Amino acid sequence: MRITIALGGNALLQAGQEGTFEQQAQNARTALSQLVEMMKEHHIVLTHGNGPQVGKLHLQNELAREKTPPMPFDVCGAMTQGQIGYLLQQQLQNELLRHGIKRQVVTLITQTVVDPEDEAFKNPTKPIGSFYSAEEAKKFMAEKNEVWIEDSGRGWRKVVPSPEPRSIVEEEIIKDLVDKYIVIASGGGGIPVVLENGVYRGVEAVIDKDLAAQLLARAVGSEVLMILTDVSHVAINYGKPDQKQIGTVTTTELRRYHAEGHFASGSMGPKVRAAISFVENGGKRAIITSLERALAALNGKEGTQVIPG
Ligand code: ADP
Ligand code: MG
Repeated sequence: MRITIALGGNALLQAGQEGTFEQQAQNARTALSQLVEMMKEHHIVLTHGNGPQVGKLHLQNELAREKTPPMPFDVCGAMTQGQIGYLLQQQLQNELLRHGIKRQVVTLITQTVVDPEDEAFKNPTKPIGSFYSAEEAKKFMAEKNEVWIEDSGRGWRKVVPSPEPRSIVEEEIIKDLVDKYIVIASGGGGIPVVLENGVYRGVEAVIDKDLAAQLLARAVGSEVLMILTDVSHVAINYGKPDQKQIGTVTTTELRRYHAEGHFASGSMGPKVRAAISFVENGGKRAIITSLERALAALNGKEGTQVIPG
């Protein structure tokens, strides 16, 4: 069976951690040890977020700006695909060797096509980088045509758009690779590019990794999409006294809960949208659960299971 797995931020960097390479490698080992069992019999495509890593890289670029030119944000995206890909690829390879599983792992630099007419470009919302003074922000806005916002009294921050992922440039390659190898692709949602006058060009934007994951899952013909995060289930009335975990749910029911506003737009919202979209476009099942429950959830015993209907 083909399975696409999306790893959440906490699989690599836990809240309160400084984020050294060794910490991230240790987290990756723990995360991957949960998944290696599946790799014995299934064809796996892995994808992952890059929020904390790209934030740190962007900061390094800003701080070193006087010594060496900062790289554009799409290049930072590519760099984190390499960084996280290397980390996962090596740790996973070691874990496979330890289990005597003869599979190899490949990371693919992946570009995600977005529509230059996407409404998100008119209204950038995702803050990146550190806080600056109003004067500095105004200078950047005037000189570089950037959008900056005042962030709840804490200072000014640059914001970038978060457009919908439309297609994957390297789709055919990923499809070929997945038959033979464990593939890591579309890291950080993929590097956002637009196709203009017949050429691709990187743009300054961020793509939601869960929305990108469902596109990837569909592109490679996965039967199952697994979104692994830090909660065991999707819940309705989340955080309230009458909170209730969702077990098996049809896309119709889940769509209704979504419309009722149960899922926060910056966290659970995109996972739910991704699950619905995957199943409504031919996927057999989408699972949202925590990393530790991955295997049990694949066997239908845990987590939120989104099915057609
Ligand atoms: P990831 O890094 O895996 O993408 P996110 O923080 O973006 O993780 O999303 C997971 C978080 O979503 C959970 O930790 C939880 O706090 C939050 N969340 C918001 N609404 C819900 C809900 N209705 N049910 C479960 N979790 C929810
Ligand atoms: Mg998230």
